[in-house]
Amino acid sequence: MSLVIAKFGGTSVANYSAMVNCAKIVLNNPKTRLVVVSASSGVTNLLVELIRPSITDEDRVLRLTQIAAIQYEIIDRLPRSEVLIAQIDLLLSRVTHLSESLVLNRSKQLIDELLSIGEQCSSLLFSYVLRQQGLVAEKFDVRDVMRTDSHFGKAEPQLTDIFERSNELLRPLLEETVIVTQGFIGANHDGITTTLGRGGSDYSAALLAEALNAETVEIWTDVAGIYTTDPRLAPNARAINEISFNEAAEMATFGAKVLHPSTILPAVRKGIQVFVGSSKAPDDGGTWIRNQIDHSPTYRAIAIRKDQTLLNLHSFDMLHTHGFLADVFAILARHKISVDLITTSEVNVSLTLDKTGSDSSGQQLLSSTLIEELERHCDVKVETNLCLVALIGNKIPSTTGICSRVFEVLADFNVRMSSFGASEHNLCFLVSDHDAAHVVDALHRNLFES
Ligand code: ADP
Ligand code: ASP
Ligand code: MG
Repeated sequence: MSLVIAKFGGTSVANYSAMVNCAKIVLNNPKTRLVVVSASSGVTNLLVELIRPSITDEDRVLRLTQIAAIQYEIIDRLPRSEVLIAQIDLLLSRVTHLSESLVLNRSKQLIDELLSIGEQCSSLLFSYVLRQQGLVAEKFDVRDVMRTDSHFGKAEPQLTDIFERSNELLRPLLEETVIVTQGFIGANHDGITTTLGRGGSDYSAALLAEALNAETVEIWTDVAGIYTTDPRLAPNARAINEISFNEAAEMATFGAKVLHPSTILPAVRKGIQVFVGSSKAPDDGGTWIRNQIDHSPTYRAIAIRKDQTLLNLHSFDMLHTHGFLADVFAILARHKISVDLITTSEVNVSLTLDKTGSDSSGQQLLSSTLIEELERHCDVKVETNLCLVALIGNKIPSTTGICSRVFEVLADFNVRMSSFGASEHNLCFLVSDHDAAHVVDALHRNLFES
């Protein structure tokens, strides 16, 4: 049986009428047997606010009320079900209890349990909406199959376990009914809840697709595909019909929020095509991400990643010696920090740090212990409020004239650092947060609209 997995993001399951749009998409394609949902829009952010150490009692009550209101807007539009109400109320009381416990014990394990409740609610509610629309549908707890390590906040999926368990526990159910399950969450070896990091539901869907050998993963969101840049930044951005795995992976890595950066990996491993479209306007088409595509333009898209940190390391020990970079990278590796761009001179190294992989609770990656460890080797300067802009395309380093064209557009901006030549698919640079939107707009107008 060829299987399509549909993933619906937060805005797609934000409320009852959005859920009905998604239900129609599922109804329209009998191959869609597995549905992966995010928490309803805003819920994960509200849960993250509940774990802020400085939250007041008044704010906590307000957030709890807001979370409950999102669930009840949906419940109230469904035929009355005491079972559903009891299940949602139980989850909401768990939110209250966990948010109170976290005041005394800020355990990462409890934080993940709290954050998982958004997806637990939305999957339950969506299974009821599907039934109301006439489908045979059941909720399935993804924690029974999505085995991860115990790195709470950004847990690593354990592929062999996931494949085995999905085929044993999930596949037989798909024969009988449409299954609705949760994105973003998993469980470790002891069954304790973990999360895959913010935006991780796309990744969950791709992992399940890999495990079950799906034909297609559909990522239904609030835009009709992957655009030449974030449509919120450039009014003339246009949807891309077809894009390669490599290009899509670069876009996701460099901040195109429409896809979680890890989503493409499972799809590449099994050659599963990915479709991105709008759940509000499914007939508007979208983007197909495939291994083989017909057209590979030099300029494909511009991605932007905010909140970048630049680490400047200075040491005279670097001059004509060896091992300095190895020491620095060993420290960063120990702190599970991944580095994006790097430039070096005789006595300086500049690195940008990847915050996309930050954990679900948005915890600061650059801890004081890390800085202290680095300071044992060199002088450390940290610059923040920076933005990474990446021009993505094909054969970029081997195409004559790209650099001059790009830097001509950037003439009026202060480019803090740049990287060119390492990848076939990108040219990226760092600018201030303040300039970023203007830079993207100028580049888009010059490279994509002329
Ligand atoms: P979901 O909740 O469905 O996972 P996200 O908010 O995570 O949705 O991702 C969709 C958003 O990604 C869009 O609303 C858009 O603003 C943003 N985005 C950033 N870059 C792009 C791009 N190149 N193409 C389309 N959307 C983009
Ligand atoms: N609900 C989670 C988040 O908001 C996961 C997701 O939406 O993909 O980050
Ligand atoms: Mg998303």
